[in-house]
Amino acid sequence: MQKAAASSGGDSQPVLSVQNVSYWYGAKQALDDVSFDVYPGRVTALLGPNGAGKTTLFSLITRLFDAPTGRIEIDGRSAAEWGFKALGPLGVVFQQPTLDLDLTVKQNLRYFASLRGLARREADERMDKALTSLDMKERIGEKVRSLNGGHRRRVEIARALLHSPKLLLLDEPTVGLDDPTREAIVRHIHDLAAASDIGVLWATHLFDEVESDDALVVINKGRVVADGSVAQIEKKTGAETLAEAFRRLTGDRVEEIAV
Ligand code: ATP
Repeated sequence: MQKAAASSGGDSQPVLSVQNVSYWYGAKQALDDVSFDVYPGRVTALLGPNGAGKTTLFSLITRLFDAPTGRIEIDGRSAAEWGFKALGPLGVVFQQPTLDLDLTVKQNLRYFASLRGLARREADERMDKALTSLDMKERIGEKVRSLNGGHRRRVEIARALLHSPKLLLLDEPTVGLDDPTREAIVRHIHDLAAASDIGVLWATHLFDEVESDDALVVINKGRVVADGSVAQIEKKTGAETLAEAFRRLTGDRVEEIAV
């Protein structure tokens, strides 16, 4: 489908541009001609049921897989041409946790900071700032193994922010967390996007994680079936709520909408 003007960021350039991307696992097509943009300073929710293709898309954006068709640009640069340098502005929280449980919070973050080439002092300053904003500063000396799921997630978010990325990818970051923890993380990420001008792509199958002023890309069976603001997508589907719009877009009889 055509990329929608509705999710555009006014005059700003997209911090992520996905253009006509398809992907196959052998004979199984997981993505079919996917296109959308993510703009700085706001959350773009990538909403789709299980198996829609969200994790596959993240694997292509982060270059775990190569996209055989189409083009992906991060902050105007395609990794196909710039190699791993193009991934510099990217922070990622994958669906599966990737912290070392036997290291402390500080050791995990310092290790990552050194991989990113940050000097010790700068790394410590950024670590303090990120952990403070996530209410995790006082846990800095604890082993990750002693933290609950929500606190581990917060550490992963802090780690993804250490190198001041322009684009933050979150792949279902609240899976397995209780409702108050989930709500706190959703709130924090939205505040972060607004305050720091980071573009956020948040993959989820939970429509209650989408806020009314988010940009929204709905994906189903590997295809983008809607792209626009929440209000536009509700209007175009004739739905009163996002939950109802989502059911209409991802049910058995699905129509694409362009807004
Ligand atoms: P979930 O939320 O369940 O992780 P998703 O939206 O992230 O779902 P993907 O994991 O990207 O979806 O899967 C997209 C499609 O590709 C699904 O039909 C899935 O079964 C299929 N798929 C994913 N990984 C593989 C693989 N390694 N080999 C074959 N098919 C795969």
